[in-house]
Amino acid sequence: MPLKLLVPLKEVLTALSDGLVLDHPARCSRCGALPAEYYESHKLRLRAGRKRMGLYRQQYNVNQPYRLRIRVCESCYRADFVGFSEEFENDHTPLGRLARIYSRLYTVGAVIACAGLLLMTRIIPVDSTLGSLKDYWPYLVGTGGAVIIGVWLHLRNTQRKIRDALETSTPPHNPRPRAEVRTPVLDNLDDPRVSALEIRLSDEEWANECASQKHWATEIYESQIIQGEE
Ligand SMILES: [Zn+2]
Repeated sequence: MPLKLLVPLKEVLTALSDGLVLDHPARCSRCGALPAEYYESHKLRLRAGRKRMGLYRQQYNVNQPYRLRIRVCESCYRADFVGFSEEFENDHTPLGRLARIYSRLYTVGAVIACAGLLLMTRIIPVDSTLGSLKDYWPYLVGTGGAVIIGVWLHLRNTQRKIRDALETSTPPHNPRPRAEVRTPVLDNLDDPRVSALEIRLSDEEWANECASQKHWATEIYESQIIQGEE
């Protein structure tokens, strides 16, 4: 039965710089396999004190990013790249390096395409220094677009290869869900015992051992609604 870990605010506050790591027990938190030397990552935010609604989105007095990492085996780690490749960008692994390359190339493609679009508009006058380049705007937009499409196709191909390799491995990989996390918005940071992060793990035994080592409270996970990040 899934179990929910309730992480107190004081733990999250100390994790803002280095991240929060769930590495006990030493087996995979999803399938129980050994060895389990990898970590699934979650990019989260500690938010407190709602301010008046901003122009585009809600703003908070405190809004700080941090990372949660949970121990998994290599197969579960690789399986995540198929649906959550953007979560790998901070990992010091070959897949993490690949995710960073994809991310940078997306940015490069977008910058080139935007430069082309700027040349197309009147923002850059014909008689300015860049005016002589205005006729080349379709080439820049085309090049930027080609880079973005090329990266997307390469990513899809990499994901397909990973999925095929996992399906044909012996024993075949049995996919298990990532941890579900929820970060409630707090009123303030005055009470260090209040729950600032909820982590739902499907392996009850692993969750219990982790919680007792860290002295965190747990709850039986009753709702079947995927809550995600609030
Ligand atoms: Zn596993």
